Amino acid sequence: MSDNLAIIIGAGAAGLMCAISAAENGKNVLVLDHANKAGKKILISGGGRCNFTNMYTEPSNYLSANPHFCKSALKRYTQWDFIAEVDKAGLPWHEKKLGQLFSDNKSEAILNLLLDRCDALGVEIKLNCAISSIKKHSDESFELNSNNGKYHCTSLIIATGAMSFPTMGATDFGHRIARQFGLSVTHTNPGLVPFTFDAKEKQQFEGLSGVSLDSEISCANQSFRENILFTHKGLSGPAVLQISSYWQAGNTITVKCLPDIDLCEDLKQHQQVSPNKHVINILKLHFPERVIERFCINMDLNKPLQQYKHSDLETIANAFQKWQFIPSGTEGYKKAEVTLGGVDTDEISSKTFEAKKVKGLYFIGEVLDVTGHLGGFNFQWAWASGHCCGKAIQ
Ligand SMILES: Cc1cc2nc3c(=O)[nH]c(=O)nc-3n(C[C@H](O)[C@H](O)[C@H](O)COP(=O)(O)OP(=O)(O)OC[C@H]3O[C@@H](n4cnc5c(N)ncnc54)[C@H](O)[C@@H]3O)c2cc1C
Repeated sequence: MSDNLAIIIGAGAAGLMCAISAAENGKNVLVLDHANKAGKKILISGGGRCNFTNMYTEPSNYLSANPHFCKSALKRYTQWDFIAEVDKAGLPWHEKKLGQLFSDNKSEAILNLLLDRCDALGVEIKLNCAISSIKKHSDESFELNSNNGKYHCTSLIIATGAMSFPTMGATDFGHRIARQFGLSVTHTNPGLVPFTFDAKEKQQFEGLSGVSLDSEISCANQSFRENILFTHKGLSGPAVLQISSYWQAGNTITVKCLPDIDLCEDLKQHQQVSPNKHVINILKLHFPERVIERFCINMDLNKPLQQYKHSDLETIANAFQKWQFIPSGTEGYKKAEVTLGGVDTDEISSKTFEAKKVKGLYFIGEVLDVTGHLGGFNFQWAWASGHCCGKAIQ
């Protein structure tokens, strides 16, 4: 066993960042991953262009039972630190919207940046390496059993992410290891995930799959303004993914389409100015016809505006601007970008990421109960927690 060896399980965003920082600090670093490729989630992220951070990263962009936990690492390794790395590597990037920074090139460029740094620092990465068990000996060292044989180390970093997107190698391994060592894990749920409709909504909105609408979406005292996107199964799009992290089964979702316009006032004004115009023609100024048909199912829109009472116009406007539904569920971990909940942050030092009860055992990245909003915040958490842990490993 090498006293100076740190083993990181998980060659994802957090694990690779941690490997770089630890190696810079003079540690020998071995990264083990059961997948056949490092950083698979980086490769598929951001629609293939990796939304690698967000210019407006703040602790308030993260959900956690302890909202203070993420503050220290986010302050010690900021979005500007990662941007500096990207600039140093000469990789072009752009802001898409809302501070979301994307690579101009494929996501591979960001992954290669990390892998090249690992290579230059002598970090060893072993792929196709499945860990079957971990033991801690009385001399404080860890013994790992794997399909490649045994490994020993004094610092063991769990960077295995969590359950979202199992096709990319995601597992609950990190949570199981936490429990094995007596650490608690908070309740977990899929986050940043599309909603599914029940039979009634499915029938009403059939045929709208692929339609996207600017909306404000609200639930549980939270709201987000972005697009919603109808799918074959229900509703997705950035606004929906954001609110899904706050949704609990049975909660009502409220959607206001066209949030910049008071549609009821708009209809009333048109009624005054052009009373002979048909209401459908006013709605067509704002929405495609098939959207109007689906939202206003069973409403008669083919009469001149003057034939409608104000309360009728309000009902029509509310169909778009106070649309309420209860999702039948979500598309689950299979389609979730993140896992909400995880290793209880009360068990972990926010400075070093070492488990308070288990010397030499560290947890970083998505495996922890820290989940970012959509928009580059989750990678920023992976970079920040990975970096701070790597610098702190003894
Ligand atoms: C489709 C999709 C798109 C996304 N896009 C973005 C985006 O653009 N911007 C953003 O900020 N976030 C995005 N995310 C979220 C982001 O990918 C994660 O938050 C981030 O990858 C978490 O980093 P991590 O290192 O903690 O875990 P991961 O990246 O999941 O890495 C964990 C690693 O551990 C390995 N592993 C797991 N179990 C074991 C085991 N038992 N033994 C050995 N190895 C194991 C896995 O193979 C994997 O390589 C996206 C997620 C998805 C699913």
